[in-house]
Amino acid sequence: MGSVKKEMAVFDSEAASEMMKELRVAFGSGKTRSYEWRLSQLKSLLKMAEDREQDIVQALRSDLSKPELESSIYEVSMLKGACTLAIKKLKTLDDAGKAEIVPEPLGVVLVISPWNYPLLLSLDPIIGAIAAGNAVVLKPSEIAPATSSLLAKLVGEYMDNSLIRVVEGAVAETTALLEQKWDKICYTGNGRTGRIVMAAAAKHLTPVLLELGGKCPAVVDLSINLQVATRRIIAGKWACNNGQTCVAVDYILTTKDYAPKLVDSLKHELESFYGKNPLESKDLSRIVNSNHFARLTKLLDEDKVSGKIIHGGERDKANLKIAPTILLDVPRDSLIMNEEIFGPLLPIFTVDKIEDSFDVINSGTKPLAAYLFTNNKRLKEQFVTTISAGGMIVNDTVIHLAVDTLPFGGVQESGMGSYHGKFSFDAFTHKKAVLYRGFAGDAPVRYPPYTKGKLTL
Ligand code: NAD
Repeated sequence: MGSVKKEMAVFDSEAASEMMKELRVAFGSGKTRSYEWRLSQLKSLLKMAEDREQDIVQALRSDLSKPELESSIYEVSMLKGACTLAIKKLKTLDDAGKAEIVPEPLGVVLVISPWNYPLLLSLDPIIGAIAAGNAVVLKPSEIAPATSSLLAKLVGEYMDNSLIRVVEGAVAETTALLEQKWDKICYTGNGRTGRIVMAAAAKHLTPVLLELGGKCPAVVDLSINLQVATRRIIAGKWACNNGQTCVAVDYILTTKDYAPKLVDSLKHELESFYGKNPLESKDLSRIVNSNHFARLTKLLDEDKVSGKIIHGGERDKANLKIAPTILLDVPRDSLIMNEEIFGPLLPIFTVDKIEDSFDVINSGTKPLAAYLFTNNKRLKEQFVTTISAGGMIVNDTVIHLAVDTLPFGGVQESGMGSYHGKFSFDAFTHKKAVLYRGFAGDAPVRYPPYTKGKLTL
């Protein structure tokens, strides 16, 4: 069996080291470099997503109560799209032009994934790793156990397990894996663990791709189609795993004058989407577990914040549900304005002039995504030139991550490196510079003794 299951035996340093030896030998055979192997593995991955869509949807339902349509669009379809693209472009990705740059696989790589899109964020990086010809170990998140065990099972069934494996488990297993010398580590998750991953990688000078999070702002100007903007904000918050998404809108910035109109519109559209009792809506994911439920409750119950709820706020602890909640003018030094929310709470922060929003954003750490709603050309330019973020969208939310011609990744505390589309191949490839020379044109000036007569250039 290719997959190492935690219930079978303890996955400790010894097991990790043993597995590493096997993968190094398999990678050393050169098998992953052939076009045929890479194509067959990508096709198997695609087939797995096609054959087992229902199992996947069920696992996501079990881990997150994720609505079927959301699972199909944001996890399965995106995975199939990325796979199909890699299959289609595999030949051109290989093309080394005049062979001045020769792409080569990095070797044996580790992918550590989080719970919020437990399928896509596990397998999407692997597409790039396989396309580039690497051996891969995936460590899915223990917080989405149904998807983690399904991934272990499916990868065991569909993929070449001499080179592609899944190790299930939590901190202990990940720590054992991190002790190994990898050729690249791709980690998606929070910045605190990101620092642990990077420190472990530094011991071996292993490069890292860190896909982290942060507070993603949406600036809302008044020169907009308010209904469309509102719907797109909702789509980029509650219709994305109930806000448990790295690029979900974390908070809104708008002017004091415009805030009441925006709030009315949000309330109206929220009710039309989720009804009068959103806690009962089948179209909202639940909070992943009681720890995260408690974390979100703490943000909401902070003294200086609890009076600022202007919509929602209802919770169902037993079923881990929190209704879409809007807060107006929470203090800047509150927890909710300083921590990534990663849930269904949306603070609206008001400013005197819309341009002041940019100072608010720039006073924090650099976000993974930033959004602006406006028809004002000057404001768009100012936004793009003054705000540093992993990515940005003018007049929409979230969907930039589905554009495969754009790299997806953070900057500063929201991450380093990027992937998606061709950038996934690049993320797991070393671009070797190769120069071919003949024997003519051997300039004497290169060789000592450096006599004056040689300086005739
Ligand atoms: P998580 O708790 O599932 O952790 C992610 C992975 O790290 C898991 O596989 C887990 O086992 C491992 N891990 C946890 N603690 C560890 C430790 N001490 N040592 C070694 N490994 C450890 O997921 P999470 O971190 O709660 O995920 C949410 C965060 O991820 C948010 O900050 C979100 O913004 C970010 N995120 C970023 C992206 C992106 O593409 N940039 C995508 C999704 C989520």
